[in-house]
Amino acid sequence: MSHYFLAYSKNQDIRQLSTSGGFVKEVLAHALRSGLVDKIIYPHMPSGLEPIVEITSDTEKLFSPCANSIYQDIPLTRFVRDRIQQNERYAITTLPCQSKAFLLGSQFPLVIELQCGRVPSPAWTYGILTRQNLTPQDVKRFIYRTGEWPGQGRIETLDGRILPFNFRRAWDEEVHHKPPRCCGCTLYNKSPQLVVGDPWRLLPMFSGESGMTLLRVNDPSLIPWLTEANIKMTAISHQKYQQSVKSLMRRKKRE
Ligand SMILES: Cc1cc2nc3c(=O)[nH]c(=O)nc-3n(C[C@H](O)[C@H](O)[C@H](O)COP(=O)(O)OP(=O)(O)OC[C@H]3O[C@@H](n4cnc5c(N)ncnc54)[C@H](O)[C@@H]3O)c2cc1C
Ligand code: SF4
Repeated sequence: MSHYFLAYSKNQDIRQLSTSGGFVKEVLAHALRSGLVDKIIYPHMPSGLEPIVEITSDTEKLFSPCANSIYQDIPLTRFVRDRIQQNERYAITTLPCQSKAFLLGSQFPLVIELQCGRVPSPAWTYGILTRQNLTPQDVKRFIYRTGEWPGQGRIETLDGRILPFNFRRAWDEEVHHKPPRCCGCTLYNKSPQLVVGDPWRLLPMFSGESGMTLLRVNDPSLIPWLTEANIKMTAISHQKYQQSVKSLMRRKKRE
């Protein structure tokens, strides 16, 4: 039976700079420190507009806003096929359409699935730049979401400007340009362990407060281990969880 929580990092800076509540980064770091895994596979976008996937055993590398949610196609499955070592155990974050590739038992003791409405086409990101009179060549760092709930986009330019944009408004505008592979996608909750998302319906929108991560624990045996992480978790009912994911579920025709 699944259990449901609102969760966030106890470190206010990490919570503030992450996508929702910084739960995922803290859990990945905890997986390393506690010896559950040897390495973390994580996408980030440290410069420009090209996401890269890395494998690390350095917890500090995870705690950067460059590793917040990246709304681009990331060839995670191919990366894993080419790069993992047979004698190592990994934790990984996945989108539902990628999850089944990592449910390989003992090599992936921790698979954290991100709820997913869609991965926008690259034209969406370029459109955000165009509205700021920028081209991809102007970008030093592009962070889709960071800061106070529900997170602002932040573009840092090579000539030293920092330009914010309204993530939520940009996301809502993009909905009509869903890429074909995401149209009719009903995938959700494939991970046997943890599913995370935004508590859109549970936190007041644009509250100016710090964020929280909506958490579904599919494997209850993980709960004692999770409580040892640098995380605050508050249990919520199944009804509350459904209230938050209702619109996503309606779109995905599941649950
Ligand atoms: C493309 C996409 C669509 C999403 N759609 C929804 C949605 O419709 N509704 C909803 O409630 N939530 C959605 N999410 C999830 C949400 O954005 C947050 O990821 C989630 O709430 C966890 O927040 P956090 O603060 O705990 O994560 P953080 O602590 O900020 O950690 C984020 C982790 O995710 C990893 N990561 C970043 N981008 C990707 C990626 N593309 N693929 C795999 N791993 C990645 C990073 O390396 C990092 O380890 C989506 C995420 C993505 C990437
Ligand atoms: S909407 Fe479905 S197909 Fe599209 S990226 Fe998300 S999980 Fe994959």
